Amino acid sequence: MAKGLYLSAAAHRYDNPTECPQSCGENVHCKAYMDIVERRMIEHGVPVMRGYQDEVGDIAMQHRVAEANEWEAFIYYVAHTNSGGGRYTMTLCWDNEESKAAAAVIGKYRKSITPHKVTVRTDLYEIRKTKMICLYDELFFHDNEEDCAWFHHGGMEIMAEETVQALCELLEVEYVAPVDRSDDLKAENEALRYQLDVLLKQVDQLADEKKALQKQVDALKDKIAVAKKALA
Ligand SMILES: [Zn+2]
Ligand SMILES: [Zn+2]
Repeated sequence: MAKGLYLSAAAHRYDNPTECPQSCGENVHCKAYMDIVERRMIEHGVPVMRGYQDEVGDIAMQHRVAEANEWEAFIYYVAHTNSGGGRYTMTLCWDNEESKAAAAVIGKYRKSITPHKVTVRTDLYEIRKTKMICLYDELFFHDNEEDCAWFHHGGMEIMAEETVQALCELLEVEYVAPVDRSDDLKAENEALRYQLDVLLKQVDQLADEKKALQKQVDALKDKIAVAKKALA
């Protein structure tokens, strides 16, 4: 049977403020990131579970861990963003060789932000209470304005895809890169260029019409001037 993946995006009781370019929060952008990971892993045929998305705080973690344990997921993957000043990416895990090796697989694919650290944490609820491997990512520092901007301008998609590659390796699923859309984009570009040409021609036409109207106005002004003179 295919190995199951349980996903748990940050769900802090009080969402942490970030330096993101728009109104955001750690919970908000981790949820958006996890949406991509979830969609891509389902595309790979991996059984994915992601429960209690509307809950926050301790109760969310308790419900999610219980559900993952009951389901007997192979990996429990958590996504958070970090704070406190720094510029690295990190995967937290339980203190055993299997977990540390799995966390290192994330590091193998995490090329967008470096360095990557594998850090043992035995105090965090989701790491402590899960029966399976728990990989608890701290993706980047959300108090770093530059990295926040990067994350919201394509970085999130890049990081999610790196994670998908790592999870595929861990779940022993053949990784398939996203479908190349360059041909579609070429066609879209051509269509846009055509529309632009049409609009530019219309602009030229309107400019010509404006010139013709200006001539008529000038001619009328001349007539008015002549008439005024005759009246004087
Ligand atoms: Zn954000
Ligand atoms: Zn967090």
